[in-house]
Amino acid sequence: MRALLHDLDPATLSLGEPLVQVDVARRVAVTARRRIAYTHLVSSAPLPTLLTACGQPPSPGMFASNAVAVYNLGFDRKGRRDVHWMYFPDPARCFYRVGWYDNLLGGDRQSLYVELGRPSGEHLDVDQMLGRVLADLRAEGIVVDHQLVDWHHVTLDPAYVHLTRASIAEVAARRAELAGHGIHSVGRYGGWTYCSIEDNLIETQDLAERLAGSLANEPTKAQPKG
Ligand SMILES: Cc1cc2nc3c(=O)[nH]c(=O)nc-3n(C[C@H](O)[C@H](O)[C@H](O)COP(=O)(O)OP(=O)(O)OC[C@H]3O[C@@H](n4cnc5c(N)ncnc54)[C@H](O)[C@@H]3O)c2cc1C
Repeated sequence: MRALLHDLDPATLSLGEPLVQVDVARRVAVTARRRIAYTHLVSSAPLPTLLTACGQPPSPGMFASNAVAVYNLGFDRKGRRDVHWMYFPDPARCFYRVGWYDNLLGGDRQSLYVELGRPSGEHLDVDQMLGRVLADLRAEGIVVDHQLVDWHHVTLDPAYVHLTRASIAEVAARRAELAGHGIHSVGRYGGWTYCSIEDNLIETQDLAERLAGSLANEPTKAQPKG
């Protein structure tokens, strides 16, 4: 993250400030704190969220997905050394994948990410599920006599989007319509697709180059007030 931020003026960043509404005709983005006039708006918010903010709500049932509950667990000593990540296609386990940060980064204590597939919108009892996660890790021999030193939880929702022929066609049409108004819906959830981080970097580098070219050719516009 620090490498990505290296060339940015920190004053251009505003964190914890969600986009809530877009005035498409006037080209004004409304956040929880202020109104920002734009020429081009690049959004990595999930496409259904952006469409709603733009006053063009998605068709009911068109955009479905699952959620993934992630537990990051730090232990007091090293565990397995021969693995970076492992899948568990076993309905008896609460997780489908476990990864070893310490083996990726050369750490000397077992540091895991544990991923659980869940229904979108579900309320999860995070503390109760931690007990189940640790029990299943013991059953797999990943946690033996390790002591948990610290842990962190985050739920990704949406996480894996459900792709259908209808959703793919709808995404293409809606993104093209938004782009006609200078709104570029990008990334995994902006494109409502399955992809990797590298795909997102390539897509947005290409867009940045195209926008830089088009902005250089555009006359300066009067900015709306507010
Ligand atoms: C469980 C899981 C495991 C994965 N593992 C890998 C892997 O090992 N390797 C890999 O390459 N890829 C992996 N991916 C894919 C990778 O995480 C994504 O491709 C990548 O994070 C997408 O980047 P993004 O910037 O498009 O979206 P995100 O990283 O989701 O960023 C979107 C940002 O938009 C913000 N946002 C949303 N709504 C609003 C709003 N209204 N206002 C303001 N901000 C908003 C969000 O807070 C978020 O910060 C995985 C994905 C999942 C779900």
